Amino acid sequence: MKEFNVIERFFAERGQARRDVELSVGDDCALVNPAEHKSIAISCDTLVENVHFLADMPAKALGYKSVAVNLSDLAAMGAEPAWMTLAITLPNIDEAWLDAFSQGLNDAAEYYGVALVGGDTTRGPKSITITINGQVPKGKALTRSGANNGDWIYVTGTLGDSALGLAILRGEQTLSGDAAQYLIQRHYYPTPRVLAGQSLRNLASSAIDLSDGLVSDIGHILKHSNVGATVDVDQLPLSAAMRESVEYEQALSYALTGGEDYELLFTVPESQRGALETSLAHAGVSFAKIGQISTGNKLRLMKEGATFKPINFSFEHFTS
Ligand code: ADP
Ligand code: MG
Repeated sequence: MKEFNVIERFFAERGQARRDVELSVGDDCALVNPAEHKSIAISCDTLVENVHFLADMPAKALGYKSVAVNLSDLAAMGAEPAWMTLAITLPNIDEAWLDAFSQGLNDAAEYYGVALVGGDTTRGPKSITITINGQVPKGKALTRSGANNGDWIYVTGTLGDSALGLAILRGEQTLSGDAAQYLIQRHYYPTPRVLAGQSLRNLASSAIDLSDGLVSDIGHILKHSNVGATVDVDQLPLSAAMRESVEYEQALSYALTGGEDYELLFTVPESQRGALETSLAHAGVSFAKIGQISTGNKLRLMKEGATFKPINFSFEHFTS
């Protein structure tokens, strides 16, 4: 199979068909027609084998996750997904692998309304790069820099599941059964909070998606907004699977430092709290208030009124 046939067979007409795509895969460039009064939000993420994903990761999950991690960046800005390109490097052409990969990619793209409009196909060590484009009403994008003293800190979903799933896959935790399967699925199929992100526009003061772990990612908000934060670790949302699989203290460590949850963390002024909670409930996503923005550029973790230090634990998550 030649490169040209790979593109035709696996990557032409993938994702959602969109009326704003004038010319898709097949020419030197794609042509798209952005909506009026909108800014284009652009983000790019690369997944390299043995760095960002295990060599035995199922191809379908990899296809899905490559799209999901990019969608998560759009969600964090409050943008609506629109178009993407795919640069894929493969050591050889394995049709069964490509079939499953393109299925996973297509499932995510179709569900979230993204059209695959172009890309590049090359030979080499396995690596996937997606550049995603979304649209957001001018001046309404959520950024990392808007948090203010007194704002409440929220997260969507539950935390730490993906990291515990990865630890199970790597044999660092010996767990089996339904809970283990659930955690592994959260690692393979994270849910980008696309609708939740859009519902935060006009309400949240700042937002970020959790790719590297809460402690690390909240640091970006503190730095860009020039504020501090207090987080009550007992408020961190934990899944039932997490609670029944490991001790509470270890669950807190996963929730605080585990990567790849792709949940949203955002801040809200007191005046918008009610509207925000209503809006998120309409988006159908669970959320938890975990702390408050303060002055002083530091993150303080609290438990029952005292400073909390996460226990040391042995895994390093994959994302660099
Ligand atoms: P060029 O040499 O002009 O870069 P290519 O032969 O690389 O053209 O690609 C031909 C067409 O197929 C282009 O429209 C390109 O965007 C698209 N394409 C190539 N690889 C992919 C891919 N993996 N996914 C989607 N579209 C692709
Ligand atoms: Mg090319």
